[in-house]
Amino acid sequence: MRKSIDLWGQTVYPPPKGLYAGQPGKGPAEYQCRDCHHFRRLTYSKTYFKCALTQPRWTGGAATDIQARAPACQHFSDTMGKVDPTRGLKCS
Ligand code: SF4
Repeated sequence: MRKSIDLWGQTVYPPPKGLYAGQPGKGPAEYQCRDCHHFRRLTYSKTYFKCALTQPRWTGGAATDIQARAPACQHFSDTMGKVDPTRGLKCS
């Protein structure tokens, strides 16, 4: 994840570019979009990552792509059973 230093010397993490359902980083810690039920992988001649919750706003351009490694947003969904809520860790 990109990081930079603000005017006061603090490390800040600018939000990743793309069309996310919520604010990346507001979801459960240590999880990423690629762990989410709403994560979509569209494969044509190349592979594009999208969030299913924003599907009505998808275009053919990169502006609506998301990054698989972006931190999860507040709409993160665990219906795939990847998250162990008792430990907050990924199940293997
Ligand atoms: S965490 Fe899930 S709902 Fe949120 S932007 Fe990523 S894929 Fe979409």
